[in-house]
Amino acid sequence: MTAGVLDGKKVASGIREGVAKKTAELKARGVTPGLTVILVGGDPASKVYVGQKEKACREAGFNSVLLEMPGTATQEELVEAIARLNAAPSVHGILVQLPLPGQIDPDSVIAAIDPAKDVDGFHPVNVGHLVAGIPCMVPCTPLGIIRMLETYAIPMAGRHAVIVGRSAIVGKPMAHLLLAKDCTVTICHSRTPDLASFTRQADILVAAVGRPKMITADMVKPGAVVVDVGINRLETGLVGDVDFEAVREVAGWITPVPGGVGPLTIAMLLENTLTAAIRDRL
Ligand code: NDP
Repeated sequence: MTAGVLDGKKVASGIREGVAKKTAELKARGVTPGLTVILVGGDPASKVYVGQKEKACREAGFNSVLLEMPGTATQEELVEAIARLNAAPSVHGILVQLPLPGQIDPDSVIAAIDPAKDVDGFHPVNVGHLVAGIPCMVPCTPLGIIRMLETYAIPMAGRHAVIVGRSAIVGKPMAHLLLAKDCTVTICHSRTPDLASFTRQADILVAAVGRPKMITADMVKPGAVVVDVGINRLETGLVGDVDFEAVREVAGWITPVPGGVGPLTIAMLLENTLTAAIRDRL
């Protein structure tokens, strides 16, 4: 059996069309959703991501602003910039591109963002609300994965979801979202012994590690839904955490890299910013 491909690009394009339509309606009522992205220093991968986000914002009709700060910027300077954006009525979303230079503590910076404008969903208030099941800004990557599973009508209730990776950006929020969908959830990480014994139990397997092709065919239950979050830049190009060609012969559904989870992350950033703009209007 060859797995069906979960086409993240296609799902993302549908979401982006919906956002653009609602944005046009909002603009007719005098509100333009505004996202400011702060980039500190010139990390090349960050520049690529920021460029993709800006382009998507423009295409959706948003007011997109890039605030570039030098790599030598201090934490105080960054927090002051965030305070100004918190107070600016035209700014509905604030995103600080990670990673930050070593002299800056990312946790303090994220905590300085107004939770209502925290379109990445990383602020402790949003994290707490997610855990408590209170509506909030949810991190874009796991939110996009849920949207994709819903779009393909993948059953979640009662399924065993195994997540490899426990980062605050992907693994942990993914676990809470799948739990809210009534999955039984297992989270694995670098200290998990015999990883394959867990992954082989997964009806839904989410790989969010950052190790090229580490999920091999023998680690996957036949018919499982395999979601590959990993983005690994090799000389040969981009690869995920899943050995796509081999695993697609075992799985029921699988996301490609590129064209899987990545486009959904950007689409959900747009949706979160639109939501922030609509809430601000209420
Ligand atoms: P982190 O480095 O923050 O987390 C990686 C996680 O993988 C950690 O929890 C770590 O465990 C775990 N891990 C590391 N090695 C192993 C191992 N051998 N076995 C099991 N678990 C292991 O990464 P992120 O969560 O930020 O990102 C993960 C991947 O997803 C990266 O490739 C990143 O580029 C990509 N990504 C893609 C996005 C997209 O839009 N497609 C968005 C965000 C990320 P421990 O906690 O014990 O160290």
